[in-house]
Amino acid sequence: MSESAHAKIAWDKVVATLRRSVPRQQFDTWFRGMRPVTLTPEVAELTVPNNFLREWIHRKYIGVLRRAISDAVGGAPSLEIRIAEEGDPAEAGAPAPVEAPSLLPPPPRPRTHPHGESDVVLNPQYLFEHFVPGPSNNFAYAAAVAVADQPGKSYNPLFLHGSVGLGKTHLLQGICHRMMERRPDMRILYLSCETFTNHFVAAVANGELDGFRYRYRHVDVLLIDDIHFLADRERTQEEFFHTFNTLYNANKQIILSSDSNPAEIPTLEERLVSRFKWGIVARIDPPVYETRVAIVGRKVGMHGVAFPEEVVRFLAESICSNIREIEGAVNKIAGMAHIYQRPVTVEMAREAVRDLMPPSSVRVSIDGIIRRVAEHYAIPVRDLMGKRRTKSIAFPRQVCMFLARRLTSHSLEEIGGYFGGRDHTTVMYALDKIKRECESNDDLARTIERLSTGLSS
Ligand code: ADP
Ligand code: MG
Repeated sequence: MSESAHAKIAWDKVVATLRRSVPRQQFDTWFRGMRPVTLTPEVAELTVPNNFLREWIHRKYIGVLRRAISDAVGGAPSLEIRIAEEGDPAEAGAPAPVEAPSLLPPPPRPRTHPHGESDVVLNPQYLFEHFVPGPSNNFAYAAAVAVADQPGKSYNPLFLHGSVGLGKTHLLQGICHRMMERRPDMRILYLSCETFTNHFVAAVANGELDGFRYRYRHVDVLLIDDIHFLADRERTQEEFFHTFNTLYNANKQIILSSDSNPAEIPTLEERLVSRFKWGIVARIDPPVYETRVAIVGRKVGMHGVAFPEEVVRFLAESICSNIREIEGAVNKIAGMAHIYQRPVTVEMAREAVRDLMPPSSVRVSIDGIIRRVAEHYAIPVRDLMGKRRTKSIAFPRQVCMFLARRLTSHSLEEIGGYFGGRDHTTVMYALDKIKRECESNDDLARTIERLSTGLSS
């Protein structure tokens, strides 16, 4: 096979891995215009259309990219990313899509468009009808329904907060579903905070702020999920502030969700904190036992497998603070019953719960990890959670992230959130780095093992 054919196959693999590792929106924004010039186990030379992309990839995605390349070529080649010049092969064995990189989504669709716009496909299960209300979420639920029925008129903004897996996204999407059904004339924009940030950054880089503003300021309803990711992003906060004011003054509905109440989002500007409190702030708490029983019942109902009362009670007793885990356990048990062709038993439920939450993940908390690592490296806890990038802090912080990923069930985003609001790619980079270093540095590998065992025993 010719060298260029090899390169083409390798590049296909790189693209496939990247597509799996980063959300589609981000892939389109950052990697679509990338082309390989050389791709061998020794050398990887890639081009991108401009310096902005180059720097951003270096800052945010270099770990993911390196990993994708070494998986594809089976080595750890030196990596150079440079700006494409005239004469560079536009398609050096590159199967990547040919269309020009589109950094911004198209402008808003016409008013009559029957569906909301969103960067995520709405989950068809996330309907109000599938949401089980209870004392812990009643207020949030009622507020969401009111806003969906009378956008811009009842509570503005609606701010939902609560910890992970308690139904924030479900309620936001419930609002979208309800409005798309009853108010097809409304322009609804639902997206994650991360997407908002990415659009903004790309718009600035490409001088397309007008298009960005038009898109975000001409909607009837704007829903942003996980707005706490605005923390630490000054310019995006500034832009969001103006978006907020424009929509608010035009009586357009704004709906936000977050993992904590506005005042507790670190580094969120005061003027945003106060605006977020103008309408209604509704908190979602972990469900009480009776609600958990009802939720298990509801989730079981979706499977067509009978769960004995005692299994329902067992699950409601064992999993208290995260409904996603309840759902996971129900799915797992239904799956086991199906595979073994046996009726559901408490023993199966026990196994499912055990698998979901290995003993270590129940006990080890990120706080515990941070304290332990701070002690080991003799640095203040505050520094680990902060933003300083000096090596003496950055490295132990990466160790923390690595341990958090290994010993807890937190997502990459959540882990990033603990360490000065860093995003998931930073966490991925840290995991990658520590893993690599452990391979070549026995001392570090031993330290990591010792810290792990210490933490989970
Ligand atoms: P969050 O966005 O707060 O992390 P999600 O909305 O993703 O949580 O909810 C996690 C899972 O739990 C989803 O599958 C959702 O349908 C389910 N869920 C959460 N709260 C309820 C509820 N009150 N009734 C039924 N399902 C729920
Ligand atoms: Mg969510």
